[in-house]
Amino acid sequence: MNTAVIGYPRIGKNRELKFASEKFFSASIEAGELLDVAKTIRKENLLAQKKAGITYISSNDFSFYDNVLDTAYLFNIIPARYKALGLPDLETYFAMARGYQGLKGNVKALAMKKWFNTNYHYLVPEIDDDTDIRLVGTKPIDEYEEAKALGVETKVALIGPFTFLKLAKFTGKKTIADVSNILTAEYVKLISALASKGVALIEFDEPYLVRDLDASDVKLFKDIYTKILAEKGAAKALLQTYFGDVRDIYTEVTLLPFDLIGLDFVEGRKTLELIKINGFPKDKVLVAGLVNGKNIWRNDYKKTLSVLNEIGLENVVIGTSCSLLHVPYTLESETKLSEEYKKHFAFAEEKLGELVEIAALAELGEDAKNSDIYKKNQALFEGRRDSVDEEVQARVAAITDADYIRLPAFGEREKIQKGVFDLPLFPTTTIGSFPQTQDVRKNRQEFKKGLKTKEEYNEFNQKKIAECIRLQEEIGLDVLVHGEFERNDMVEYFGEHLNGYIFTEKAWVQSYGTRNVKPPIIWGDVSRKQPITVEWSVYAKSCTDKPVKGMLTGPVTILNWSFSREDISIKESILQIALAIRDEVLDLEANGINIIQIDEAALREKLPLRKSDWYSEYLDFAIPAFRLVHSKVSPKTQIHTHMCYSEFTDIIPAIDAMDADVITFEASRSDLQILDSLKENNFKTEVGPGVYDIHSPRVPSVEEIVAALTKMRSKIDDSKLWVNPDCGLKTRGDEETKKSLINLVAAAKQIRG
Ligand code: GLN
Ligand code: ZN
Repeated sequence: MNTAVIGYPRIGKNRELKFASEKFFSASIEAGELLDVAKTIRKENLLAQKKAGITYISSNDFSFYDNVLDTAYLFNIIPARYKALGLPDLETYFAMARGYQGLKGNVKALAMKKWFNTNYHYLVPEIDDDTDIRLVGTKPIDEYEEAKALGVETKVALIGPFTFLKLAKFTGKKTIADVSNILTAEYVKLISALASKGVALIEFDEPYLVRDLDASDVKLFKDIYTKILAEKGAAKALLQTYFGDVRDIYTEVTLLPFDLIGLDFVEGRKTLELIKINGFPKDKVLVAGLVNGKNIWRNDYKKTLSVLNEIGLENVVIGTSCSLLHVPYTLESETKLSEEYKKHFAFAEEKLGELVEIAALAELGEDAKNSDIYKKNQALFEGRRDSVDEEVQARVAAITDADYIRLPAFGEREKIQKGVFDLPLFPTTTIGSFPQTQDVRKNRQEFKKGLKTKEEYNEFNQKKIAECIRLQEEIGLDVLVHGEFERNDMVEYFGEHLNGYIFTEKAWVQSYGTRNVKPPIIWGDVSRKQPITVEWSVYAKSCTDKPVKGMLTGPVTILNWSFSREDISIKESILQIALAIRDEVLDLEANGINIIQIDEAALREKLPLRKSDWYSEYLDFAIPAFRLVHSKVSPKTQIHTHMCYSEFTDIIPAIDAMDADVITFEASRSDLQILDSLKENNFKTEVGPGVYDIHSPRVPSVEEIVAALTKMRSKIDDSKLWVNPDCGLKTRGDEETKKSLINLVAAAKQIRG
């Protein structure tokens, strides 16, 4: 039986791509050196997959920043403002990804959005009426040839035109209907070029097919692929879907002349049913996504073989459910984790082994159960007794409906709080973290390595906190923060202070561009060991007379940015975490911290891709879990929350139902249409839509911020509007942060005037 991998991690086992890119950004290396690093990563990836014995390996799954951006770039979908900079190729590309501020001009980055239901982010292609869509690049061809020269015959993975168009933003009068023919024709050129180079298999990634589709979407998809598939020549075509099932287009897809179809059996709840009810064409190959590309637990071979059995087809390839981009490289890099834990996990490299083992077991048929591989695998699923904490389970069982309700109601609290805090109109604040400069990281690392005592470590952080408070006072911000210098990462930090969590050393996963995250693993039942943030917040408060905001991460985000358990439900896990964070909220309050921000940066992450599932499968327990965290604080305590994206136009009632007092969110990179929705929905919570983009080092001008605020004021009541950046400042430098915040405060003062 054959095996297939959709895509492989590309940041490098030791994050080589990140470090080289950052050096390139700061002009300390030339482009050539960065290209070499990338080449080595691609080579190692290909050879790892080849060595494991994978049949279908992708090329063109590599990216310097993001594959959607690559696709835009490939087809000349480069907004004029970036071209006008007149930069060399690679730098134009990075200007689109990160914005540009320098001798040649000053432009913002493209908008960035979550890639479906993952924590990976793509750059939103912009198409205006003058966009000259045209195949101008050769990346897919080059990377195919590079692989071939290494002795690896690859399938060439492309983001399909349908998904690309659906994700693009149209900024002029033109719509998808006006450009789909042109883009399709350019894809046809690319396909012909690939075929003429001897490419045998082209993979079209069309994850958009797992979303709700209407008749016009189905028609668009059929139109595009009828044309493309007519021109593919000798090359075979693989339609690859992931992150769910294709229930709205299954029949149409099986009727199109694709040679292989990749379906997701992990997240696609209806995939098996679709095949059973409608059948699967005999003349096509099914690439069955059975190995989870998103989580790190070992595959349960018993389950997988039984699904294969139910599929009951001959032409099946064992595949991953999605690209392995979403899991870390290899367990081999984990030197500190004991075998007792490790044996339960499979990262990208280990998943290659699983694919091959499953393929071999599937060939054995009934005999598979007698093989050592199978028995060893099954032993892993016989229960992990150390993961159970009866006290935690009893606490969850004792939660009552009243625990989910904060009293008095919002309106009354708002009045009380206006009296207590006496803040100016348009209060200014930040989202929590201040620049994590070299010294900050060094302090943490030295403490972790035992090179610094707890006292030395604390002393350094206190010094940083005091400086940070002084800086904020000097800048004139209204609600201050301690700066989060003690935190490596907003989820890992809390995980480290909770029972039930385990950690890795090198299990990095790409979040966007050069930003990688190292999600902790929820191993067992979760509870709080002891107060986590109280001493830092209390210290910060002792440095100033202004209000200091305590800073926590919410239960939904902690869960969504961890590798979650597969042996209990997500709902159960979230409630356990919610109770732990609630303990922390109440301790902060008891220690005089009466503004507390509970970040839910990743609330939307696990929102089902299909609307019909939103409430029943997710929001109906995620939103109450958030309320559980803050429901018992006094009306005089102000609860803030923060989200990292503005895409919640469609779940505004759910966001309001979190019942926070203030919410801040990203808005500067996307248009301000969310403001209309807030107004339409009579949003009660006070809001701080980010007034500038912190993902880029660019300093926003006062005028720019005033313009953003002016727009906001036309939709949001003055009494409810806060002024803040769109996210934490930890990835920024000291200098740009100071300048930006000075401008932010100046802008707030200007509109107060
Ligand atoms: N409080 C966090 C910070 O400022 C929020 C980060 C986030 O939203 N991703 O870093
Ligand atoms: Zn954020």
